[in-house]
Amino acid sequence: MEILYLVLRNMFPYKGYKLSVLENGNHILIGLKSRRKCGICPTCGKHCRNVETEYERTVRDLDLAQRQCYLLFKQKKLRCSCGYRGLEKLDFVSKSRRVTTRMETYVVSLAEKMSLKEVAEIVRLDWKTIKNINREYIRSLLPNILRLDIKRIAIDEIAIMKGHKYFTIIRDYDTGVAIKILFGRTYEETAKALASLGQEKLAKILYASLDMWDPYIRAIKEQCPNAELVFDKFHVVKKVNEALDSVRKKEFANAEPDERINMKHKRFVILKREENLNQKQKEELNMLMQSNEKLYKAYLLKEQVLSIFDDKTSTFAQIIERFDAWFSNILSNEMKEFYAVVDTIRHYFYGILNYFRYGMTNAIAEGFNTKVN
Ligand SMILES: [Zn+2]
Repeated sequence: MEILYLVLRNMFPYKGYKLSVLENGNHILIGLKSRRKCGICPTCGKHCRNVETEYERTVRDLDLAQRQCYLLFKQKKLRCSCGYRGLEKLDFVSKSRRVTTRMETYVVSLAEKMSLKEVAEIVRLDWKTIKNINREYIRSLLPNILRLDIKRIAIDEIAIMKGHKYFTIIRDYDTGVAIKILFGRTYEETAKALASLGQEKLAKILYASLDMWDPYIRAIKEQCPNAELVFDKFHVVKKVNEALDSVRKKEFANAEPDERINMKHKRFVILKREENLNQKQKEELNMLMQSNEKLYKAYLLKEQVLSIFDDKTSTFAQIIERFDAWFSNILSNEMKEFYAVVDTIRHYFYGILNYFRYGMTNAIAEGFNTKVN
């Protein structure tokens, strides 16, 4: 008897419990009887004697000689002096789990080698339980964002399937850690993802850097009551470049054959910032500009507005003046291809100006500046 008990102890090394075999048939049921009158508080870690009641629990443990094995025990409900009221902490099973911690470890180790369905068959647990165990494990590996104090967020969309499908990534702007990754980019999806952070966290978010995309804007305005919106400057740059490129395409289509030779393969030269061109590219640009007045004007308008975004010395009022000057240049030149950009900038002006106030940009995720600027 003594030896058998030692064997049992060895197989079920649960400290502080007296063991007994309650059933020994198709299943094995092991009874754990606590030797302690107190329980450990999960919040303060102290022993707590104030036990309100006890709940009986049965959890699955590792198989014994291919027979399914269960543990039957009582878990204390505590009312601790630290203010905690709830179940005691047990070291062999987590709160509200149906299997022991060592069973979870076993499941996770199998899941690294085979499909979850196969794991479910081997350990004889339902697939959903396996999935939950594995998900919790993966979650435990991620940095605990719930503990992070997030002051600034960045929201990026990532196009997949050639722009037919979108991901949205919500990041902590300061650490770069992804807080949420969601499929899609609708208002509902974004609002739901933000809401899951909880009101307390959302109230601490003071800045959000994002594209001029109305569903995101609406979601942030509703969910983050204290957040200032900062529109990503590269989104504006992209729209300006698109306008310039549409001028180039139109002029190319209308050009005489000998002029076209000059204009061919010049997209890159036009879209690149002038200061970044090498000598050969500068000469190409000069030739192009001499031969096509409209394209030249469009190019200057592009350079004019993009240089505002580089402006680090002007006052806030001067920045606004520079934008106004740009708006009127477009109108006086009747540069219709730029009208939509002007409308966009005017419509989202508050958030674009916040770029100059707070200097935030999603550049790293966007990668746009390295491609075109
Ligand atoms: Zn406590």
